[in-house]
Amino acid sequence: MSSVQRICVLGATGSIGLSTLDVIARHPERYRVFALSGYSRLAELEALCLQHRPRFAVVPDAGQARHLQGGLIGAGLDTRVLVGEQGLCEVAGHPDVDVVMAAIVGAAGLKPTLAAVEAGKRVLLANKEALVMSGALFMHAVKASGAVLLPIDSEHNAIFQCLPTDYSRGLAAVGVRRILLTASGGPFRQTPLEQLEQVSPEQACAHPNWSMGRKISVDSASMMNKGLELIEACWLFDARPAQIEVVIHPQSVIHSLVDYVDGSVLAQLGNPDMRTPIAHALSWPERIDSGVSALDLFSVARLDFQAPDEQRFPCLRLARAAAEAGGSVPAMLNAANEVAVAAFLERRIRFTEIAVIIEDVLNRESATAVETLDAVLAADQRARTSALEWLRRHGR
Ligand code: NAD
Ligand code: MG
Repeated sequence: MSSVQRICVLGATGSIGLSTLDVIARHPERYRVFALSGYSRLAELEALCLQHRPRFAVVPDAGQARHLQGGLIGAGLDTRVLVGEQGLCEVAGHPDVDVVMAAIVGAAGLKPTLAAVEAGKRVLLANKEALVMSGALFMHAVKASGAVLLPIDSEHNAIFQCLPTDYSRGLAAVGVRRILLTASGGPFRQTPLEQLEQVSPEQACAHPNWSMGRKISVDSASMMNKGLELIEACWLFDARPAQIEVVIHPQSVIHSLVDYVDGSVLAQLGNPDMRTPIAHALSWPERIDSGVSALDLFSVARLDFQAPDEQRFPCLRLARAAAEAGGSVPAMLNAANEVAVAAFLERRIRFTEIAVIIEDVLNRESATAVETLDAVLAADQRARTSALEWLRRHGR
């Protein structure tokens, strides 16, 4: 690998993308931005291009590409602007790229993330939906290409840090009894149950500890985020769903734990700032400064834990069942959730209807095996259509 690593940031204008660029900018001697992508907020993407001077930028359509290309040429940059999913896959798998940050939100990130995996890159995985959808296929591609897959999700990054380096021998073989996946419980952890159907998108997006994109913020409020993370952890660490216990820990200081057969429990702690897992994955196995301040245990003062309540968080039950069912079910769960969350953010459904829609879709659509990318995409499409039908049936 060259001494300066060339980085492709997919989803550069988002919360994870911007945190990644913040860490990169602290280490110009180690990292150079090779490509940036954005889907909306293209004025911000242009400003990021002016700051980081990437070789490529990727936008959703040709008109936006012409506009951005004109602006960049006017500013004296030779950045080439590419278009759409094809452009994303091209930069993610480009021979001159060393590291790909997969930080597009949702199913839209699947193909570009897979392109990076298939090209054998160091892949920093924030886009959990891609792995949830295509689990077996995705992990198979990692093994086949020799890609280095490093988790950005703070919980999975914590688990990775608490496991021995040879954990791929199998969790039992390295003495792991359970993985304890922590969750903040989100903004509605203590909201009276009867008020949950009245909560607004603004309330759902006001996460107590983390500042994130809107989709993952709603997922955190419903705890579907933890459900997706449970499925993500099964694939990343070759765990059975029963080996993973979700623990509500409202302070978000412990980012997850690994429980060993001898009674040792290892945890990773830190301030809730995504620049820590990003810096870890960028520099692994070394360590670099992330810009995150040192954890002050005296101001944290206490750490609380409680079991999740499945009546309050039905999405968690649905996701665990999907993890156990396997096949196309996690992809359908994810797709139905994406449609439902978008409808909630547009104020077309109530917060509590997110789980209702997902359960309805999973009850209607039969599970299939998903051995090819086409099968994954077909399952995703079936579930989206089914969720949209729910909306139509209910006049939303
Ligand atoms: P965000 O909404 O802030 O950013 C999403 C990025 O994806 C933006 O750059 C946007 O332009 C791009 N994008 C959106 N739709 C797209 C499409 N159809 N095609 C191409 N690009 C598209 O989201 P985020 O909070 O940065 O989250 C990104 C991913 O990281 C998600 O999968 C999320 O679950 C995961 N993640 C985020 C956090 C966090 O703290 N924000 C933590 C853990 C995991
Ligand atoms: Mg997480």
